[in-house]
Amino acid sequence: MVTDSRRGEIAAGLEAARVRVAEAERAAGRAVGSVELVVVTKTFPADEVAVLADLGVTHVGENRDQEAAPKAQALRGLGLVWHFIGQLQTNKVRSVVDYADVVESVDRIKLVRALSRAASAVRPVGAPLTCLVQVCLDDQPGRGGAAPEQVADIASEIVASPNLALGGLMAVAPLHEDPNRAFGRLAELARATVADHPSARTVSAGMSGDLEAAVRHGATQVRLGSAVLGYRPPVG
Ligand SMILES: *Cc1c(COP(=O)(O)O)cnc(C)c1O
Repeated sequence: MVTDSRRGEIAAGLEAARVRVAEAERAAGRAVGSVELVVVTKTFPADEVAVLADLGVTHVGENRDQEAAPKAQALRGLGLVWHFIGQLQTNKVRSVVDYADVVESVDRIKLVRALSRAASAVRPVGAPLTCLVQVCLDDQPGRGGAAPEQVADIASEIVASPNLALGGLMAVAPLHEDPNRAFGRLAELARATVADHPSARTVSAGMSGDLEAAVRHGATQVRLGSAVLGYRPPVG
């Protein structure tokens, strides 16, 4: 159960986040409402995700299949759009395609092939799974993402795969660099991607700490967790 006070906290967090996104849009000279808000609900219980749905949130993000699968199952029928945003092993793909509407963390050809096979098995024809190519914006391995020079090949593989649709790109800002510089490189890659694939316009970038920089550099979607839901204990 979600207490009234927690419900109030979530509503206030959501409102503050919406105001921040609108201010960032205005500051960037972009139309207010042009950036989609994905609320990252990892580590928060399904009850709280239901509160978000009540408050008008439609896009939610999760990064671990073990956690996301039961939550999505429990909340079926709320009309939520589930974004899978975590590093994805091929042995989890079959589970993820059951509930995810968008997989944002596609960073290798092998994963594209596994997603296409799994999507073909469980999804209705004509309802392709949207995939974003996750780009690594630094040279620190282990946080996921394809090297920038691999992005075009992975994007083409998605486009060529049955039951997958290319949505665009996703990235996480590096820990030790001005996010403006990193998101500037992402914007260049996004321009190249759209030149090859005109409908792949999504740029998923910006988290609670750096959404303004992401919106300045053309993000079409921000992924906000703590800015909406508050402190999240770190998980391994
Ligand atoms: C956790 C997470 C977020 C949200 O992070 P906050 O700093 O809480 O906004 C966004 N994107 C990814 C890929 C994440 O894992």
